[in-house]
Amino acid sequence: MDLLEGAVRAYAWGSRTDLADLQGRTTPTEHPEAEIWYGAHPADPAMLVRPESGDPKERSLLAVIDSDPVGCLGASTAGTFHNRLPFLLKLLAAAEPLSLQAHPSALQAAQGFAADNSRGIPLDSPVRNYKDDSHKPELIVAIGEFHALAGFRDPARTLDFLSALAVDEMAPYVDMLGRQPDEHGLRMLFTSWITLPQARLRELLPALLDGCERHVAAGAAVPFAREAATIVELGAAYPGDQGVLAATLLNRVVLQPGEGMFLDAGNLHAYLSGVGVEIMANSDNVLRGGLTPKHVDVPELLRVLDFRPIDASALVPEGPAPAWFDTPASEFRLGAIVFDPAMTAEVGEVGKAGEVGEVGKVGGTGEAGGRVPVGADVALPVGRPQIVLCTAGRGLLRSGDAELEVPRGGAAWLDAGDVVVASAAQTAEPTCLYVAAAG
Ligand SMILES: [Zn+2]
Repeated sequence: MDLLEGAVRAYAWGSRTDLADLQGRTTPTEHPEAEIWYGAHPADPAMLVRPESGDPKERSLLAVIDSDPVGCLGASTAGTFHNRLPFLLKLLAAAEPLSLQAHPSALQAAQGFAADNSRGIPLDSPVRNYKDDSHKPELIVAIGEFHALAGFRDPARTLDFLSALAVDEMAPYVDMLGRQPDEHGLRMLFTSWITLPQARLRELLPALLDGCERHVAAGAAVPFAREAATIVELGAAYPGDQGVLAATLLNRVVLQPGEGMFLDAGNLHAYLSGVGVEIMANSDNVLRGGLTPKHVDVPELLRVLDFRPIDASALVPEGPAPAWFDTPASEFRLGAIVFDPAMTAEVGEVGKAGEVGEVGKVGGTGEAGGRVPVGADVALPVGRPQIVLCTAGRGLLRSGDAELEVPRGGAAWLDAGDVVVASAAQTAEPTCLYVAAAG
């Protein structure tokens, strides 16, 4: 058990306040802070907080795992994932929209990585698509309200949206989708938009944005008001970008705190704003589809995209604490534990003096969704590597005689040999822990 110091990533779309506020640091920060990585990614591994060691090699989680993979990861994880931690856990704060993107399947990644290699494109080249040979399933869980575009909307509803905008210049495209309102029609429409010549874009985009502005002006109660407002915002942020057109085809998702969204291979998505916990396979493979000045490889994107419409409803964690998010990813599992002071008070009021001791027992065996009273002890999985991240309150981890306090915005590394019980310090607010474990 060790506290981790995460690696702060200063991408331009990050926030100068959100992550620092979460960790109780001074704001605004010098640079926008987009992500804090808690993991063993070679590009930016987290460091173990070991006051006795000033040697960065002894403190890097990557170096610690490399020096004893089986001891740190357990025989099973080490064997399956070639002695590497198979997931990367992040805190993420988007103050501005991220690029429209999709991630490849395992097969596409293996083929794409080999193809990039055979063409001799250097690993750090901006026109290189594949940085490694792994897929990148990812799960985002909202800490505050979280906004995103994700997956193609049911074409029938997209036709309703585009028709409601009443933009003459869009009529041929509405007809195109209307003739084939399914995944094939979506592929055709998306392909024609992403390959549109600049001259045509210069006519079409302002007309679309005018239509969206008129629609927004009609009031928040009209259908697709939020969708139209998002198109207006993206159009202002990325003038002349084909991604603005593509964004009209995607589900506009709002996650409430604690709700998650899983993004499987081929799912076109863009995070718009908010703070969240994100977990993914330890890969860096991103194919961009617009809303970015960066390289867009259209043929490769079209090869990877999955045009089947999805409903993009939020995931909630299931079962007793830790309550796990149900995803098909084999690299990771993410579970939630919420130590809720209101729950203790509620049961305590009903019970008589002397019965309070029962509260922890009742709750500790597992309320649905990972919610337990403060005072409950929650046993964490054993035999696999884990990272425990605290997003609210103050977590306490016990392993034998050792106790570790995990502050808000902080995280702890547990190796496969640690047998750990999680609890919470008495605080006025709920304590929220996310448990990331190898799958
Ligand atoms: Zn992504």
